[in-house]
Amino acid sequence: NTARKFNPETDVKVKFEDVAGLGEAKEEVMEFVKFLKNPKKYEDLGAKIPRGAILSGPPGTGKTLIAKATAGEAGVPFYSCSGSDFYQMFVGVGASKVRDLFKMARENAPCIVFVDEIDAIGKSRSSGGARGNDERESTLNQLLVEMDGFTASDHIVVLAGTNRVDVLDSALMRPGRFDRHIQIDKPELEGRKEIFNVHLKKLTLSPTIDKDLSGRLSTLTPGFSGADIANVCNEAALTAARMEAEFVELVHFELAIERVIGGIEKKSKVLN
Ligand code: ATP
Repeated sequence: NTARKFNPETDVKVKFEDVAGLGEAKEEVMEFVKFLKNPKKYEDLGAKIPRGAILSGPPGTGKTLIAKATAGEAGVPFYSCSGSDFYQMFVGVGASKVRDLFKMARENAPCIVFVDEIDAIGKSRSSGGARGNDERESTLNQLLVEMDGFTASDHIVVLAGTNRVDVLDSALMRPGRFDRHIQIDKPELEGRKEIFNVHLKKLTLSPTIDKDLSGRLSTLTPGFSGADIANVCNEAALTAARMEAEFVELVHFELAIERVIGGIEKKSKVLN
């Protein structure tokens, strides 16, 4: 039963305030929020609302988070899946899963459908190896058919995440499909500070800790993604617990940063 895979998250708690930085991206998705909250206004004006957006950027930069926050702000269900979920051995299975997904989305509209790793099915049709190509094409075609089939009264927004926007089939970007492209980059110093501020809120910090802790930590973490920063904060708390400390102290963050750098280095070794 493939339908079970697409259980939506109905009471999405994530809001824009949980997403640090990414001001431009938030502004872009705000239009979807407004549309989902009040589609009639757009219909009355005869406006064709964009159907979807591609969120592209390196891993862990908050693509899924901002998609989810869009659902949270609009107060609509969030259907999340990954392009690789559709990738099957047998031709036709992926396409029928896409059909199931959109059938459910239509029944539960207004809603947001998020397809992570869209490149797994949306690679340019001329690229890629032979094996599995038919299956990928039929899955991609079904996705295009579904998006083309939206009528003005289908209040569904499709967001897709990828770190390989360069390989995507240009058919995906045509008007009425993913007509918006939102680029999300790794955070700079100020962005990292803001992300630290979001994640530090969850910790029990030492009362004597550096007043500008997030500023200090942001200078120690060049090249870190938002996911790396969330990881540092959690690691710091775990380290404090391991050391039987009452509060999280600067030293716990320093140890956590070293650990996370170790993890990042290992990952990049595997990739290279
Ligand atoms: P992937 O490409 O690997 O799917 P992604 O870009 O979708 O990654 P997310 O899953 O959104 O990344 O981010 C992972 C976690 O990192 C989030 O759940 C959040 O805890 C943290 N994070 C990332 N970016 C931000 C941000 N801008 N503000 C706050 N937290 C963030």
